[in-house]
Amino acid sequence: MNPAALSLYIHFPFCLSKCYYCNFNSYAGMERLIPDYLREMEKELLLWKLFVREYSSQSSFHEEFQVETLYFGGGTPSLLQPEQIARFVEICREVSPAVALEITLEANPGTVQEKFFARTRCIGVNRLSLGAQSFNDGCLKLLGRIHSADESREAFRLARKSGFENINMDLIYALPGQTMPCWQNTLEEALRLHPEHLSLYSLTLEEGTPLAGTVKAGLLPLPDGDLAADMYLLAEEILAREGYIHYEISNWAVHGKECRHNLAYWKNTSYLGVGAGAHSLLFGHRFAGVSSPQEYAEKLSTLEHLPLSFSEMGEGRSHLDFVEGVNVEREMSDTVIMGLRLQEGIDFASFAGRFQRELLPAYRQEIEELVGLGLLDVDEKGIRLSVRGKLLGNEVFMRFLPPDSAGSALS
Ligand code: SF4
Repeated sequence: MNPAALSLYIHFPFCLSKCYYCNFNSYAGMERLIPDYLREMEKELLLWKLFVREYSSQSSFHEEFQVETLYFGGGTPSLLQPEQIARFVEICREVSPAVALEITLEANPGTVQEKFFARTRCIGVNRLSLGAQSFNDGCLKLLGRIHSADESREAFRLARKSGFENINMDLIYALPGQTMPCWQNTLEEALRLHPEHLSLYSLTLEEGTPLAGTVKAGLLPLPDGDLAADMYLLAEEILAREGYIHYEISNWAVHGKECRHNLAYWKNTSYLGVGAGAHSLLFGHRFAGVSSPQEYAEKLSTLEHLPLSFSEMGEGRSHLDFVEGVNVEREMSDTVIMGLRLQEGIDFASFAGRFQRELLPAYRQEIEELVGLGLLDVDEKGIRLSVRGKLLGNEVFMRFLPPDSAGSALS
């Protein structure tokens, strides 16, 4: 039996300062925790290696895995030393001897130098995700980013010079007070650098963040929903003209440079997240570690092995604080919801091959209603979001949630 592909995510939750819009599991001013955190994260990886081997031999899963993609996310993983990154790459190769095909590192343009790029490229990192966010210094200031537009350009140039041929750039639109010409300018500045991949996110004002507080206090205007939709449509138009493929709701790539790691999430296949608060889908379970880096390191330091039962892991006998069994209804629903994010949508034949159930009868009512509303397109191959459906994705996704989305019993 061929080993199943596994995507591995490594979470580094430390940042130099907290951006005003950010509610990710990331922390500023906690550098003192980094050595313990890294040591325990290495341990977690090795514990999972043993767990996977024993669980597959003892449970009904009998699954072998091959790590195909590796993703260093955060936080700001570009604060790591290249040697520390190399250590994780090396352990991953011990976990799965086949070389990971895609190794991505998220990099903050305010933290990187040429030497860093050259060394990370040498140790096998072959994809960079650069958090540029905007090419307008006023917007960067409003977001609380630690870098300027010039520093993003320079970081991109240095990454290219160091041999990176696969670079993503993250950009955020629909900022309070942002105008259409300002957004168009950011897009054009990004395109001048010719990144292989672009991730464009509409700003979400997250409760409790300084930016949401400023807007709530009336000191900044609320982002306008209609303008946000127009900004998205403008990006679609400009990027299509430049030859980018809009392969996922928020992601564009030149042919062949789609993010393989994120495709695993969207195709609802196995992934393992290592580090504080990192999420996983493995052996029919979804689970996540505790989110506090300190608690994470403390819990792991007392563990000698992971219990061979997910229910025991969820009952406090591990570093996990969330474990949920995924029954077949939930897996079908997740597969549809995540798959609809992709331009290709859900293919009838693949769905039937995976679940031994046909998509159309399983979700006939939902699909007919959504087609009637103009949010979904159907043809002989499968279903996918319409142009309008892409703008109203959440309206579509909620229709496919199972009546009881709490998952099934743990085992
Ligand atoms: S660098 Fe990224 S993770 Fe860190 S605070 Fe800013 S947005 Fe959040």
